[in-house]
Amino acid sequence: MFRYRNKEVAQKIVKRLKEMNLNIRIMHVCGTHQDTLVRYGLDTLFRECGVEMRQGPGCPICVTTPKEYEEAITLAREGKVVATFGDAIRVPGITKSLADMRTEGNDIRVVYSIEDAVNSAKETQNDVIFLAIGFETTAPSTAATLLSDLPNNFSILTCHRYVPPALKALMEMGELKLHGLIDPGHVSTVIGMKPYEEISKKYHVPQVIAGFEPLDMLMGVYMLARQIKNGEAKVENEYTRSVRYEGNAKAIQVMNEVFEPFDLVWRGFSIIPNSGMKLKRRFEEYNAKKIYEDELKSVEEIKFEKPKGCRCDEILRGLVESKDCPLFGRACTPQHPVGPCMVSVEGSCNIEYKYGTKKIQT
Ligand code: SF4
Repeated sequence: MFRYRNKEVAQKIVKRLKEMNLNIRIMHVCGTHQDTLVRYGLDTLFRECGVEMRQGPGCPICVTTPKEYEEAITLAREGKVVATFGDAIRVPGITKSLADMRTEGNDIRVVYSIEDAVNSAKETQNDVIFLAIGFETTAPSTAATLLSDLPNNFSILTCHRYVPPALKALMEMGELKLHGLIDPGHVSTVIGMKPYEEISKKYHVPQVIAGFEPLDMLMGVYMLARQIKNGEAKVENEYTRSVRYEGNAKAIQVMNEVFEPFDLVWRGFSIIPNSGMKLKRRFEEYNAKKIYEDELKSVEEIKFEKPKGCRCDEILRGLVESKDCPLFGRACTPQHPVGPCMVSVEGSCNIEYKYGTKKIQT
């Protein structure tokens, strides 16, 4: 690990970046990259090198829509057991979160994996619904589980999403001038490099897949800056110790066997074409949206509005940073989050609060 935190090497890369006289804005789409960026002060360092780095829609808990959370809350209200990851239960819904529902006596379970949720179903007569959140990193384990023997009282509410369509949507929208993209290391370990190539080609945007150590990010940004200076737009791989060109063939195959793409709304975005993972017809017996269609009808009638003053939607499109939100550190803290970006450990506001400008809370 310490090979990737070597001060002398870091100083050499920073020196080279400074010599390039940069004035560029780039985006990454990964909560772990944001953590490294702020935890190690790389955001400040990059700014000194003429590189402005924005976080895009890279936090799965954050991009899951209020409607999707409300569906889980509605099913919990109907007496179903809802199992999901820790951060997801704290995301504020229309009137309450899943955590509030648990306090009121509903059966909401925090699990570390989908297998835990399946085990819960085996131990109870009640219906258990797994709220399946995440990108291509967690979707393969959901898919593999659906290919195994499952109890009849188990189903999933799938909120899984594909990352490359969101990158395309950002490029299409063109709200923010971006000179390049740092692609997510974990997602890329699964999907490989190919899905990014058409984005570079179509939008002439350079991309570098980077790992999560400080030197990975420094090197990734240097490689990106070099492409920008040379007028290139290709996909490069800094994270070669984990990412192969073809990705993880087995994980891709399992995902493709279980899911198919469909148009889906992301928080902060409207519909992103082919960005959602829908269960294929042969898995409908596990599809909570189908099984509980009647119970979920009421959610269709809700008019969802963002929490007053919350700027998560703009943060997820890279338009503003956490500190631009007037509620940051004041009305909105990790203890009393207003939006998902303050709840999730991958959320920009949570990370900024943890390592950045906590002092403004007073
Ligand atoms: Fe939303 Fe809170 Fe972040 Fe503001 S600080 S954007 S209210 S999560």
